[in-house]
Amino acid sequence: MTRPIDHELSPTLDHSLDVAEAPKLRLKDVSKSFHVPRGEPIEAITNVNFETHENEVCVLLGPSGCGKSTVLRMVAGLEQPTAGELTLDGEPILGPDQERGMVFQAYTSFDWLTVQQNVEYGMRLNHVPKKERRERAEHFIELVGLSRFAGAYPRHLSGGMKQRVAIARTLANAPAILLMDEPFGALDAQTRWQMQELMMDIVEAANTTVLMVTHDIEEAIFLADRIEFMSRHPGRVHEEIIPSFKQGKRIGQKEELIGLAGYGDMERHILHLMREQGGDETSP
Ligand code: ADP
Ligand code: MG
Repeated sequence: MTRPIDHELSPTLDHSLDVAEAPKLRLKDVSKSFHVPRGEPIEAITNVNFETHENEVCVLLGPSGCGKSTVLRMVAGLEQPTAGELTLDGEPILGPDQERGMVFQAYTSFDWLTVQQNVEYGMRLNHVPKKERRERAEHFIELVGLSRFAGAYPRHLSGGMKQRVAIARTLANAPAILLMDEPFGALDAQTRWQMQELMMDIVEAANTTVLMVTHDIEEAIFLADRIEFMSRHPGRVHEEIIPSFKQGKRIGQKEELIGLAGYGDMERHILHLMREQGGDETSP
């Protein structure tokens, strides 16, 4: 399906943006209010507009409470917008679907199943034939570097390894877009950056389109082809930031990224936005 493209929303980024191509995911004037018993409705986000393209990593960044998870949950189909439209490949998003696979911050593997069985689980529900199921699971387990642990149970794995199982399990269902809500937020600093680097390899190898939520600036700049910076009360996209200093390349190692001219300026700019848009966390 082809649609007219808003060129203003499609800055240049060589490796993944083809302006002749329709956007993969599009949010148009999306707003969401939550009804609370005996209270004023909470306007979580208002008029959120952005689009992202095939094979892009798009990161939603912003201060706590700005509505990042709300946006992601709407893309997942777990919440309905109060106004506006969300489309994936031109089709409206109306509810949950396996074409939109979600990885949460909390580990979500089944304790009573091995790594291999966990990764096969979704395919089993979808009646994927046994041999194909096994081969696909092996492929994605290898991709996340857990081949030696295919027969292990999640309780024997570290936090980072459990999150790798969740990623493999989600990718094995061949989602059109991978949705991640602070997937590395519960990990210690070293595991976190190792996971970020692994994520980069996975995105390259599996050609996945990713929409990821984080409040970690360095993580956003490292992983993103496109950053949507959100502000609070009510949440909206304050600024779209393209890390053009990467010159359209994906940088596999963090120290290389941090050493690039332009990294410091971008980090400073985003830190400034965080301070300006974050408001006072000590008041409600
Ligand atoms: P973030 O992920 O950026 O921290 P959220 O999307 O979780 O922000 O929340 C955005 C706003 O919406 C917050 O003010 C939060 O309290 C409110 N909110 C989120 N989910 C609900 C809900 N189910 N009911 C009422 N308010 C909600
Ligand atoms: Mg959140």
